[in-house]
Amino acid sequence: MTRQWNHYINGASVPPASGEYLEEFDPRTAQPSFRIARGDGRDIDAAVTAAQAAWAAWRDRKPVERARVLIEIARKVREQIQALSAIERAETGKPARQDLAEIEVCAQYFEFYATVANALHGDVLDLGSGYHSYTRREPYGVVGVILPWNAPLNQAGRSIAPALAAGNVVVAKPSEQTSAGLLELARIATEQCGLPPGVLNVVTGIGAEAGTKLVEHPRVRKVAFTGSVRAGRAIGHIAAERIIPLTLELGGKSPNIVFADADLDKAVAGSIGAFTLNAGQVCLAGSRCLVERPIHDRFVEAMTAALGKLTLGPADDAQISAIITRQQYEKVQGYFDSAREEGARLRIGGTLPQDPALREGWFVPPTLYTDVTGDMRIMREEIFGPVVAVVPFEGEQQAVEIANQTDYGLSAGIWTRDLGRAHRVAARLEAGQIYVNEYYAGGVETPLGGYKQSGYGREKGLEALKYYTQLKCITIKL
Ligand code: NAD
Repeated sequence: MTRQWNHYINGASVPPASGEYLEEFDPRTAQPSFRIARGDGRDIDAAVTAAQAAWAAWRDRKPVERARVLIEIARKVREQIQALSAIERAETGKPARQDLAEIEVCAQYFEFYATVANALHGDVLDLGSGYHSYTRREPYGVVGVILPWNAPLNQAGRSIAPALAAGNVVVAKPSEQTSAGLLELARIATEQCGLPPGVLNVVTGIGAEAGTKLVEHPRVRKVAFTGSVRAGRAIGHIAAERIIPLTLELGGKSPNIVFADADLDKAVAGSIGAFTLNAGQVCLAGSRCLVERPIHDRFVEAMTAALGKLTLGPADDAQISAIITRQQYEKVQGYFDSAREEGARLRIGGTLPQDPALREGWFVPPTLYTDVTGDMRIMREEIFGPVVAVVPFEGEQQAVEIANQTDYGLSAGIWTRDLGRAHRVAARLEAGQIYVNEYYAGGVETPLGGYKQSGYGREKGLEALKYYTQLKCITIKL
């Protein structure tokens, strides 16, 4: 019998009003892992009501006192990381080392936002001697956090920690594929770390049901969404009607640009990591690899050879893990078909593995295409699997042009030994986060967010606190 999870509302495990549960699956075996509550508007209302009731006391605590609770959450996450990871791995199939590293970063979000809880202070404005004018940064109240399935606890910490640090209360709706980890985190935070009941609530369920109701709820004053453009657009319509602020962290089709003067070995290894980490299920994935013409052929050969040596499977030390949902597994295979039909040249991968053991779970091999054109679907659409298209270019100008030929703009990589070029190209790329000579370089401190259809608002770093607070200006005639 698979373990059954209820919502976590007001510091208690609460069964769904519908009485219904949804099935989650372990991607390594395609077998059921957990059952989670199927939330609807009634559960959302209960959670928002609890959050609203808890708000004033949490908001009015000294920031250092809120920070102390967040530090304790970070400590407990680390202390119980093995148990949290066992839950998360049953939902995501991630290899242990990778999952533990992601949850460690979840702890770091709580730690970081504890240290900067009141670092964003107001200003005093000089209006001459007859006035005293100043600004305050105030929390919104109930913040709705809607999350995807690719890095569940990591992304939960990324949005929830700054929201709480700023004095908001949260109702979170994790992905229906990966909800249990966050339910456990909310329980630990509330029962073991001194977070008052109602400050962090988790309602599980389907996006179009529980998710929509959360965004529509009249007492939800801000929404932070991480997920697809499709759902982001739907949520954006509701937020526009309600006139509430929204942070949208959406998808990407990020360019990773390798210049001929780069350290070739490091660039090959780093460019592989850019699209194979988490089996390519990373919004930031460097899935369009642009390589300067003089080294293009050598680069493709080296990359193809190295990809052939990567290990794929359910093992805890596998380099390529499973695709997390069945729907995504099928979607990635659809891109293999479209690449074939559109005439891309397959260098490695591109079909399901032959090994029957790997057919039990949702595994796809690392895949490299060349001879692609900008109008092919594999060049335009986010695949969210371990698939890369390698494109030659000539010179900086063309590299920037090809890199920016996308509706997305989340991140970009640059590999070069020329510092001047790194700065010039970084300035001209239309993306919110740029990495030079190490793809994914950065930490909880480095702001993340999209240009173009990759979204708006920012998560991570001190910058994110601006999006979890609203500014008030007070002017006194003396
Ligand atoms: P998704 O948009 O299908 O779902 C994300 C969340 O939104 C889930 O909790 C889902 O239940 C909910 N949802 C879906 N439709 C909704 C609706 N109409 N109203 C309210 N809620 C709704 O995305 P996914 O498939 O879970 O995640 C993959 C996507 O997330 C990819 O596009 C990826 O690039 C993106 N992503 C972005 C970032 C980032 O930081 N920019 C990080 C990770 C993933």
